[in-house]
Amino acid sequence: MNILGIGAHPDDLELLCAGTLACYSQDGHEVFMCHLCDGNKGSMVYSSKELAKIRRREAIESAKLIGAKSIWGGMSDGEVVLDLESRIKVIDVIRQANPDVVITHHPNDYHSDHINTSRLVFEAVYLSNLKLWKTNYPASNKLPFLYYMDTLAGVNFVSMEYVNITNTIDIKIKMMLKMQSQLGWLKEMHDCDAAEFIKTVARFRGFQAGVLYAEAFAQQKMYPQGLTKRILP
Ligand SMILES: [Zn+2]
Repeated sequence: MNILGIGAHPDDLELLCAGTLACYSQDGHEVFMCHLCDGNKGSMVYSSKELAKIRRREAIESAKLIGAKSIWGGMSDGEVVLDLESRIKVIDVIRQANPDVVITHHPNDYHSDHINTSRLVFEAVYLSNLKLWKTNYPASNKLPFLYYMDTLAGVNFVSMEYVNITNTIDIKIKMMLKMQSQLGWLKEMHDCDAAEFIKTVARFRGFQAGVLYAEAFAQQKMYPQGLTKRILP
């Protein structure tokens, strides 16, 4: 299968679903990781231009750790809005990956970029395989399953399914540690140690799922997809 994760910012997929993406990759599936925004506002040290460059490089290095392809959606931080231009950009992201499964933010996450990313992906998943909707890329040829990843620290999130990431928690942390420009920022803004955060949330979800470490997901149910088999690893 082709698996596409779409996060608003470089580091969102690393924090919220990288363990699952690593499982997919280990199982031989093709993985794509997209950050819609260039991450150009998340620093007190760099200029926006410098930061966007650094974060693009970090995202590529992180994706490389699991053999994933990194895609940038072409937006700036704080500018993910629900308009036609954004919808077409997200359709093109999906068309580049031609995915069987799409993972994105939950509609109730805390940040407007996350919430709008969730909505745009929901809209674009269906539209991306309509041949008469012309964009820069040819229409994808399947209707992917759509899953929402956990929210930051699980706030407002009700889990429907879990993925056992006990075997991929270490690679997940390594992927997050590639986001060097964000580690200090997270500490200053939220007093958050990224590795501790990932381990604590994964352990908490692991207790819920009856395994050591887990990631939590909720599926967007859509016509005409019956739930007759498990899609997550
Ligand atoms: Zn984010």
